[in-house]
Amino acid sequence: MGAMSRVRVIVLNSALGPLDYRPPKDAAVAPGSIVVAPLGPRQLVGVVWEAERLPAEEVEAKRLRPLLHAYDVPPIAAPLRRLVEWTADYYLAPLASVLRMTLPSSSALDGARTVIEYRATGEVPGRMTPQREQALERIAGRQGLVRELALAADVSDGVIRGLVKAGAIAAVEVSVEDPFPVPDPAYAPPDLSEAQDTAATELRAAVADGGFAPFLLDGVTGSGKTEVYFEAVAEALRQGRQCLVLLPEIALTEPFLKRFSARFGTEPVAWHSGLRQSQRRRAWRAIASGDARVVVGARSSLFLPYRDLGLIVVDEAHETSFKQEDGVQYHARDVAVMRAKLEAIPVILASATPAIESRQMAEAGVYRELKLPARYGCATLPDIAAVDLIADPPPRGRWLAPSLVAAIDETLERDEQALLFLNRRGYAPLTLCRACGHRFQCPNCTAWMVEHRLTARLACHHCGHVMPPPRACPECNEENSLVPCGPGVERIADEVAALFPDARTAIVTSDTIWSPAKAAEFVGRMEAGDIDIVIGTQLVTKGYHFPNLTLVGVVDADLGLSGGDLRAAERSFQQISQVSGRAGRGEKLGRVFVQTHEPKAPVIAALVSGDAEGFYAAETEARRDAAMPPFGRLAGIIVSSEDLNAATETARLIGRTAPSVDQMAVFGPAPAPLAMLRGRHRQRLLVHAARSLDVQDVIRDWLGKLDWPRTVRVAVDVDPYSFL
Ligand code: ADP
Ligand code: ZN
Repeated sequence: MGAMSRVRVIVLNSALGPLDYRPPKDAAVAPGSIVVAPLGPRQLVGVVWEAERLPAEEVEAKRLRPLLHAYDVPPIAAPLRRLVEWTADYYLAPLASVLRMTLPSSSALDGARTVIEYRATGEVPGRMTPQREQALERIAGRQGLVRELALAADVSDGVIRGLVKAGAIAAVEVSVEDPFPVPDPAYAPPDLSEAQDTAATELRAAVADGGFAPFLLDGVTGSGKTEVYFEAVAEALRQGRQCLVLLPEIALTEPFLKRFSARFGTEPVAWHSGLRQSQRRRAWRAIASGDARVVVGARSSLFLPYRDLGLIVVDEAHETSFKQEDGVQYHARDVAVMRAKLEAIPVILASATPAIESRQMAEAGVYRELKLPARYGCATLPDIAAVDLIADPPPRGRWLAPSLVAAIDETLERDEQALLFLNRRGYAPLTLCRACGHRFQCPNCTAWMVEHRLTARLACHHCGHVMPPPRACPECNEENSLVPCGPGVERIADEVAALFPDARTAIVTSDTIWSPAKAAEFVGRMEAGDIDIVIGTQLVTKGYHFPNLTLVGVVDADLGLSGGDLRAAERSFQQISQVSGRAGRGEKLGRVFVQTHEPKAPVIAALVSGDAEGFYAAETEARRDAAMPPFGRLAGIIVSSEDLNAATETARLIGRTAPSVDQMAVFGPAPAPLAMLRGRHRQRLLVHAARSLDVQDVIRDWLGKLDWPRTVRVAVDVDPYSFL
């Protein structure tokens, strides 16, 4: 058989392996071509692959069906095809699931230049209903497909279509071919400090030279890491190549866009889950054609088919949100390094608190470490003090110690801003009945229902289950007997309001900042001085730069340590360092108060004394002694089913058949700490192996031989970050 008469295709269906087809009648295809393949009566999008790299079922030539169509878009290039293979292999995921991340929806693949979207005309419909009213109110200035507007307004598609008929919403034609403006590397380059210049020079050279070059850009908060990696971006732009900047959180995109455009004269192309379909389509096509020169995005932007990528930056590289926890469970930081290797380009991991994994790579000489030891300009690092909650306790039923309250008072006196950090959304993490002790638990999960007063609901933070707060206890029927236990940010906001009735406060969590537009609004209010005290979760710990923010209070520094997983201490250290880094970024000195019951705990002691190196050294030693990552390897196996018995039996079967392999141990099965999640019972096993062992191969072989009921899901989490 000649190459032209048979092509191998990965179709976007993770239950299917590679399939063979005949080429389409009207077009030539090569590896990487994006095609439409017939499957029974269905049509699936797929990508042509090198036949020699993937085995497929043998099908006689005369039984092969022809591909229906090849899209007129650039093929998926070889380095990205290798990345797809590597990711599937390393994370034990189906090729099709990884491949899907490189492609947009099929509508973006066809050649149409325009899309019809809808927006409100301002016209009032002749017949108004509550649903129509709600729809018009909620979509306000929005524009999008009927489906998108319906989702935004929380009404059915029919309501939107009705409003179109009534003339209150009209169609607009949107071009998806409008070119993106090109950032200008010479627009507003900064005067770099000496340390910044040294780092920037090295990065520019690496970009100009090309070739794989991983960097760890390790600089304290406010040292100008962003300014420095912008110089690498500028160099890539001068070379006419594309850049990708990965950010951990969509909420960070908006301030980043502003900052980028101050440096380069125009915004970069953003890629995140909040894009409308037409924006997504325009961005994807520009990325594939090479017209999108700088892309800033969440982790999913890592798999896009850049035509000529010259640089990847992973900002806040220590963030655990780079780890994807559903579907393909990959770590975007690690995949970014692999993509850079396959594309033969530099990659910069930027962080003020690099992960032990990354530091280790630097120490081993694999990553080149660039240090920025001081804050830029006259800003200095804030003073961190521990507040001993036993010696200096808050009054009963309150959470802020007198010394922190006094510091807030002084800050407000000086017209400066304060930030209180507590990594707990809502009002109270637990609600119980004073009469009978009943606790409100999620019916679908092993988790308490969290009270949210702002929306008057109890909510499960794992599955999203919500209920109105009942007036009486469902167990004992006692009325008004329910009491909130412990604080969330809303409760701290109440306390602040009682203490400082004139202060203007803002709560910053994923409940209040759920879109880039909301983030922009918050940043605007902070910059304008319209907020005195911010009360926020981890969402405020990173990225933001508010020169007038001079006080940070960490409400409960012990919270992160209670989980007790492998990285608990490291994560606490990072989180508190990061939130501390929000204080005193301008000319004014910053102060940080860390409330704790254990001021002597190593994490707290290291933060107070500023001895990051000592802390990291001790943590690294402990990991080395226990052969934990990065000195050893872990993989979680999570077995889940709605049927408790099936989950338990399958987990036992997996445990029983664990191969005995040198330098590998299997722990469990045992019920997961989150024993039930979204109505599924969960069991976990943990595989611990030496670094030299190809643990994926062992697991693939082991699980590949087993059968379990269709109702059971078995997920393998390679290099896990969650142990719940
Ligand atoms: P990091 O990313 O390390 O936290 P940033 O890049 O955000 O630090 O820099 C902190 C602040 O200092 C920002 O407002 C930035 O614009 C400013 N800055 C840093 N370096 C320079 C420079 N060389 N010239 C002018 N401003 C700078
Ligand atoms: Zn739940």
